[in-house]
Amino acid sequence: MSPSGPPAVLRPPASLGVIGGGQLGRMFLQAAQRMGYRAGVLSASDDAPAAQVAHWSVVAPSDHLPALRAFADRAEAVTVEFENVSAPALRWLARRRPVRPGWRTVWVSQNRIREKSFLTRHRIPHAPWHLVRTGDDLEAAVEAVGLPLILKTASSGYDGKGQVRVDRARDATAAWSSLGHVACVAEGWVDFQAEVSVVVARGRDGQAVTYPVGQNRHDRHILDSTVMPAAVGPIIAQEARRLALTVSQALGTVGVLTVEFFLTAEGRLLINELAPRPHNSGHLTIEAAVSSQFEQQVRALCGLPLGMTNLVSPAAMVNVLGDLWTGGEPDWEAALRADPGVKLHLYGKRTPSTGRKMGHLTVLDPDPEAALARALAARAALKPRVARTRVVTGRG
Ligand code: ATP
Ligand code: MG
Repeated sequence: MSPSGPPAVLRPPASLGVIGGGQLGRMFLQAAQRMGYRAGVLSASDDAPAAQVAHWSVVAPSDHLPALRAFADRAEAVTVEFENVSAPALRWLARRRPVRPGWRTVWVSQNRIREKSFLTRHRIPHAPWHLVRTGDDLEAAVEAVGLPLILKTASSGYDGKGQVRVDRARDATAAWSSLGHVACVAEGWVDFQAEVSVVVARGRDGQAVTYPVGQNRHDRHILDSTVMPAAVGPIIAQEARRLALTVSQALGTVGVLTVEFFLTAEGRLLINELAPRPHNSGHLTIEAAVSSQFEQQVRALCGLPLGMTNLVSPAAMVNVLGDLWTGGEPDWEAALRADPGVKLHLYGKRTPSTGRKMGHLTVLDPDPEAALARALAARAALKPRVARTRVVTGRG
């Protein structure tokens, strides 16, 4: 970074860097490359989904100082594809290069205690919660949030990992033990009628745009499908988008941020969690919106004007998990033949495992529920063709 600071706008073919080698990094790189940028990745493996498509890669853990130095030498601006990046590493990078989102947004959203404290402090609606660091806290938590509750580890959770539901007070101790007595939040159970999310992109000038609300269905705590726009009516949709803007403003985020909500049985929106990045529920914006969530990540990172978030069509996305490989490689042609409107995305992961996100399917249809039905039908057509791939049980 020059003494006068970074240039206000980074123009193609500047070199952009993303920390994290997963599918979100891959789709960021693809969006950046389409706009003419050079784009590289700091990744733990040279065969990770993002590393496979990158113009350049630095292969190392994200908090390895020599690797960060090499990364900062090549990347003129830095973004992240996951929240578990060490905040000191991001601060170190931010002294050399523009880092968007900044360390504070990442630091708040990578830890549930900080995240819930932030929401509480800003009076942003969320489920009742209580901090658990000791056995006494646990007892107080049961009292404070009621039963059933969910114990969630403060850090490192994703796809429902590090979570246990507690139905009876006498089970709380065993539940906390099963999580290794690490710092947790105890969250009151929310009787929701729907789960929705809003992706918001915010520029350096504070201007922000939101996408239409996505409606998410989970299976075994893993996102299974998203439909956009959500069938929640205009008042709730507007409120969700307003809350997402409030969060991004309160955090001072520059970049893309996703807000996950519960819509309660009584029609209240409660924030579940924040992700300082594009989100699985926004993948359908690649085909369905004028500008995708990944393009917005590029634009915000480079100081370009943000793009339009309008949908060109309602759409649905279904995830393709490693479970589909149980009988061998899925039959992609069958899904594509059955419905020529289906868009196939595969992330290039070589080892399918149960619950691992391997790809997704998107379908555009004027009727959002028809889009979902078609996407589900296409996924059902993915019957294995040849029995030759072994599915291992392990990391998602
Ligand atoms: P991801 O990163 O994939 O979003 P995660 O591991 O961070 O997942 P959460 O979003 O906290 O986990 O929870 C995963 C899912 O578990 C939620 O989308 C919801 O379906 C269910 N869940 C979590 N908390 C609650 C709650 N308090 N009440 C009811 N259901 C919940
Ligand atoms: Mg979640």
